[in-house]
Amino acid sequence: MTKKVAVLGEIRDGSLRNVSFEGLAAARTIAEGGEILAVLVGASLGTLAQDMIHYGADRVVTVEDEKLAQYTPDGFSQAFLSVVEQEKPEAIVFGHTALGKDLAPKIASRLGCGLISDAVDVEIAGGNVVFTRPIYSGKAFEKKIVSDGIVFATIRPNNIAPLEKETSRAGEVTALSAEIKDLRTIVREVAKKATQGVDLSEAKIIVAGGRGVKSADGFSPLQELADVLGGAVGASRGACDAEYCDYSLQIGQTGKVVTPDLYIACGISGAIQHLAGMSNSKVIVAINKDPEANIFKVADYGIVGDLFEVVPMLAEEFKNL
Ligand code: FAD
Repeated sequence: MTKKVAVLGEIRDGSLRNVSFEGLAAARTIAEGGEILAVLVGASLGTLAQDMIHYGADRVVTVEDEKLAQYTPDGFSQAFLSVVEQEKPEAIVFGHTALGKDLAPKIASRLGCGLISDAVDVEIAGGNVVFTRPIYSGKAFEKKIVSDGIVFATIRPNNIAPLEKETSRAGEVTALSAEIKDLRTIVREVAKKATQGVDLSEAKIIVAGGRGVKSADGFSPLQELADVLGGAVGASRGACDAEYCDYSLQIGQTGKVVTPDLYIACGISGAIQHLAGMSNSKVIVAINKDPEANIFKVADYGIVGDLFEVVPMLAEEFKNL
C-alpha cells in the first residue's frame, strides 16, 4: 500500500547529516511508490531543501524560525507536529542520532503511535513494512512490523545506503509558518569539544585505541592512520578511564554505537561491552600483541603484533597507495 513518508532532515553546522539522506532511502522502500516528504526545521535553511530533493525527496516542507536556531525538544516537536498536522504522513523516519533519540519518542507519544528505534534495515514482506533492529547489544536481530497506526522508525546511521544524488531532480518547497512557543529561556551558546576531522558516529573508517596505547601520546600514530584513511579516531572505555582520551570517543555499550565500513581496533582486548558498540562494523581489523585476545573472535583480519610497530607501518603503506 502506498504511503506518504515524512523524513526529518538533520542539520549540523549548516549542513545536512548523511543520515538524512539514508532516511530518504529508507522512505523510498516504506513509501512503496507513495510520496516522500522531507521536513526541515531550523533558523536559516538556505539551499538545504534542494539537497533533500537531490537525494530522493519529492517535496520539502520547511519550518524556519529564529527560535529554532538550536535544537530544543519543545521547539522542534512543535515545528514537526505542525507539519504532521498539515500533511498527515502515514510513516515517519528520523535518524537514530542524539537528536533523533531525544525527539522521536516525544513525537510518537504525542501522536499516540509506536516507535521502532535503531532500525538497521527495512524491507517490504508479506504486504508489511518490516524493520530489522539489533537486540542483546547487537548479538541478535529482530524483525518488527507495525500493524496499526503511523509507521515511525529511527534508523541507525551508516546502515541504509543513500540513493544516488541526482542534481536534475526537482520538487516543490513550501514554507510552513508555525507558531513556536518557547517554553524556556535558552542561553544560545554552544560549548563544543575541539574534535579533529570526521564525526565518529558517521565515519566510514574508524581507528580505535584501547588501554594498549598506554598514554595520550600513544594515540598519535592512530590519529595519523585515521588522517591518511580519511577516518575518525575512537576508543575503548579502558582508554577513556585511563585518561588517554576524551569520553566523547568511547565506543561500546555505554558509549557510541558505530557501524563503519572499516573498524581498526588497536590494543583493545574485545570486552563484551566494547563489542556491543562495534561488532556490526562491516570489516573489522584487530591489532593486538596477545594472540588469545577476544577481539580476534569478531575480527575479519587479525594482526598479532605491537601496535606501535604495526600502525605506523600501515599508515606508511596507505600513504603510498
Ligand atoms: P584491556 O582489556 O586492558 O585491553 C588492552 C589490550 O591491549 C590487551 O588485549 C593487550 O593485549 C593489548 N595490548 C597492550 N599493549 C599492546 C601493544 N603494544 N600492541 C598491541 N596490543 C597491545 N568498555 C568499552 O570499551 N565500551 C563501553 O561502552 C563499556 N561499557 C561498560 C559498561 C559497564 C557496565 C562495564 C562494567 C564495563 C564497560 N566497559 C566498556 C569496560 C569493558 O568491560 C573493558 O574493561 C574495556 O573495554 C577494556 O578496555 P581495553 O580493551 O582498552 O583494555
